[in-house]
Amino acid sequence: MSWGSIATWRMSYEGMVEAKKILSQGGNSGDAVEKLIKEVESYPYYKSVGFGGLPNENGVVQMDASFMDGNTLAQGAIAGIQDVKHAISVARSLSKRHYNSFLVGEGATQYAKLHGFETTNMLTDRAKKIWEKKKKQLQTKALNPYDGHDTVGAVCLDKCGSMAVGTSTSGLFMKKPGRVGDSPLSGSGFYVDSEIGGAAATGLGEDIMKGCLSYEIIRAMGNGKTPQEACDKAVYPFIKKLKQRYGKAGEFSLIAMNNKGEWGVATNVEFTFCVANEQDPQILIAYPGNEETTDIQPITKEWLDKYEKRIKKPID
Ligand code: ASP
Repeated sequence: MSWGSIATWRMSYEGMVEAKKILSQGGNSGDAVEKLIKEVESYPYYKSVGFGGLPNENGVVQMDASFMDGNTLAQGAIAGIQDVKHAISVARSLSKRHYNSFLVGEGATQYAKLHGFETTNMLTDRAKKIWEKKKKQLQTKALNPYDGHDTVGAVCLDKCGSMAVGTSTSGLFMKKPGRVGDSPLSGSGFYVDSEIGGAAATGLGEDIMKGCLSYEIIRAMGNGKTPQEACDKAVYPFIKKLKQRYGKAGEFSLIAMNNKGEWGVATNVEFTFCVANEQDPQILIAYPGNEETTDIQPITKEWLDKYEKRIKKPID
């Protein structure tokens, strides 16, 4: 049996290298998902996940995360958790409980503290500076205050055929205190069933929720579609529908992998992602294509160099 992994954005690459070590040596998909996401949560220059994540309107970093086991369908999720280093680990721990498996706000933070999860101030000096700058700009200019958000979402398949999915994000920059996105919501931000496959989302949560897009992809794969066909079928007509009936559609992207390690993505914006299955992890870039499918290309060195500069650019 082969293994595989797909995850959102360039930022998941280093984590996928770690996940590969676990999966290629016969390790468990849940461990691989958690490890991959912890790597992203730890890196301060990824400003939409974990340590270094951008704060809400009040300058507080509030994170959402989820974990799902594709064998048992067990799920754990947290929303609006504060001061906890690895939101994904808290979500995974909650997935082992039949009751109280989705905790929000103070309850989520209390649970993490009580159960010995590492706590720390998640607001880095850099994130604080970005927040202060944005606050000032917002006083004089009509800007989109929500610029700067992304989720790490990862689906892993292990050699035993077990699958798991996880998500972690600090959500929308400048969000209202208590705002929750799609990432901890089953069927919207994530879903996995080892008999079929898994999916995860990133982008404007408020719109992803309107289509329960992760579950729709699983449903299409369950009806015999390949992951790419399932992504195309679930996402592109929905974008059209949203534009027609709601008047607009925010930016979002979905990833999927089936239980054979085949994968697909759909997006309405430039979207990088990482994938590995029996090969070394690679970074690819996707664009919305013509004919309701996705145009996927290898990433260029130029793109990667620019990205590196952008994420480390001094804040003036
Ligand atoms: N989906 C996340 C949210 O709405 C943000 C993102 O992935 O860009 O909170």
